[in-house]
Amino acid sequence: MFHFKTIRWRIASSYLLLIVGVTLGLTLVLTQQVRTRFLEDLQQDLSTEARLLAASRDLHSHWPDDRPGLEALADQWSQLLGVRVTMVATDGRVLADSHQDPAKMDNHQARPEIAQALSAGLGTATRVSKTLGYEMLFVAVPVQNEDDPPIGVLRLALSTDQVSQNANSLRAVSLATGAMAALLAMVLATVIAERTARPIRRLTEVAERLADGNLALRYHPETNDEVARLTRAFNRLVDASEEQVNTLAREQGRLATVLNNLSDGILILDTSGRVQLSNPAAMQLLEIRSPAIGQSFPQVARDHRVVELWSQCRESGAAQNAYLEVSNGRFLQCTVAPFWDGFHQGYLVLLRDLTQVRRLERMRQDFVSNISHELRTPLASLQALVETLRDGALEDPPAARRFLDRIETEVDALTQMVQELLELSRIESGQVPFNFQPTPVGDIVLKPVERLQPQAERAGVSLIIDLPARLPLVSADAGRVRQVITNLVHNAIKFTPAGGSIAVRARVETTSSLPVREPVPVAPIAREHRQSMVVIQVSDTGVGIPARDLPRIFERFYKADRARSGGGTGLGLAIAKHIVHAHGGRIWAESVEGKGSTFYISLPVVNQTFTID
Ligand code: ADP
Repeated sequence: MFHFKTIRWRIASSYLLLIVGVTLGLTLVLTQQVRTRFLEDLQQDLSTEARLLAASRDLHSHWPDDRPGLEALADQWSQLLGVRVTMVATDGRVLADSHQDPAKMDNHQARPEIAQALSAGLGTATRVSKTLGYEMLFVAVPVQNEDDPPIGVLRLALSTDQVSQNANSLRAVSLATGAMAALLAMVLATVIAERTARPIRRLTEVAERLADGNLALRYHPETNDEVARLTRAFNRLVDASEEQVNTLAREQGRLATVLNNLSDGILILDTSGRVQLSNPAAMQLLEIRSPAIGQSFPQVARDHRVVELWSQCRESGAAQNAYLEVSNGRFLQCTVAPFWDGFHQGYLVLLRDLTQVRRLERMRQDFVSNISHELRTPLASLQALVETLRDGALEDPPAARRFLDRIETEVDALTQMVQELLELSRIESGQVPFNFQPTPVGDIVLKPVERLQPQAERAGVSLIIDLPARLPLVSADAGRVRQVITNLVHNAIKFTPAGGSIAVRARVETTSSLPVREPVPVAPIAREHRQSMVVIQVSDTGVGIPARDLPRIFERFYKADRARSGGGTGLGLAIAKHIVHAHGGRIWAESVEGKGSTFYISLPVVNQTFTID
């Protein structure tokens, strides 16, 4: 119940000590006092009685030689007064004794009370009687006639047992009272201590839970004492720190939001280069999975140039900046700056991803150089034709007409290129409106193929359409997709030597991993059809495309086979790619050089309605 260090125990133990001390001291002093007073009273009584008896005639009549008479007197008085009576001659011989045979008793001259009685008229002593063996109070008076010298001593003695008993019982009562008082004090101290300590204990509990992070907790004092004042001061302190913690948390939250959403990578390092903070962008740019807090920067950054930049910043104390192409093909601007925010010293590492900016810049440069390159050839031949005309060909009308025809062809090619460029840029910038309609696949492929049939015949290649009987409708801008098919078939004719063949086919493909159901006329699961695409393919048995060119043929101005592409601008497939992507579809090609190529486009299926083409 008591812990020795608690306030309760301290109060109770001091009370207890005080009470036990006072009780013991009081008991000691009191019993001593009472004993002394008893003995004094007894001594007084005995000396009065002794004087009276010493003066009695009976005594004098028998003194000193009538021993039996003296013995009888001693016995009589002893019985009467309840004391021991001893009669002693001046030389110390015992003449008579109420409790002992005088013959057996030694000479009493040296007994202090006897000697004192003879010299001073009254002798007293308290000691253990040699004759009887227990403590006695002795009072002796001289036996004498008037003013004559003493003829002997009469001694009365009484056991001090009674006195001791009285003192003992007094001590017992006093100790019992003391014990009661101590017990009472303990109870009282417990109550007082408990009432004093309770609010302190509660306050301590609250403080402990606050320290565990439960900042909303408060303890409201029930009293109005010192502890209450302490509690109120404590509450004010907690209010202030809660406010501060909240403000800090808000600021930290804001900072975290900024850092998490920042596209630039940020790392904060301590003086020894250990990572203190890193944002998701930094993790992405440095290709690390965990925030790497506490790890050393060289370990985290890995790229030695980035680490070197930090070392230079450390050595020079000045911010360092560098543009680096890192391992994953990214192009980064890396800045390392030292900082001192008043409390901490460290380094700020800023990583800016310029990959996209650089790619765009490169594309722009490529575009300009491509366009200049494309323009140079027709312009040069135009210039040559014009010069030839001026230099005299005009004088030869049939030749002049031929030159003019060639000029027209070059101008047509230039015009087509400008038109395609314009169209491409309009599609890319989203200026071309698409009108998506549920469209039968036949509508898309039939017209272009029909239109190009004569050209195929002229080139000596066969051109066929091979569509399944039932195909779902596709969501498409028919005009635009026809433009794509025209381009694909036109290319196929262009790159297929005479005697070859071109086929346009279509099929349904489900992107889901669910098994494709056989065409069901009514209510198949809608989801399956939402994920279904119609894939249209244009295959030829032509020259094919080298594997290294295949991934690039959809780029602007890319021509794999410059010799054959003739008047081609290299823009057709780039336009086709944009149109198909706008439909939510894909365009890709497969080819074996020398054997032929197959171009595929996929278009989303509208619903489960099947049409017979
Ligand atoms: P172009 O107007 O030059 O045909 P495209 O963008 O339509 O431009 O085609 C780009 C390049 O892709 C062509 O120059 C050619 O090298 C290659 N190509 C396209 N279709 C075929 C095909 N069916 N067979 C072989 N090569 C092809």
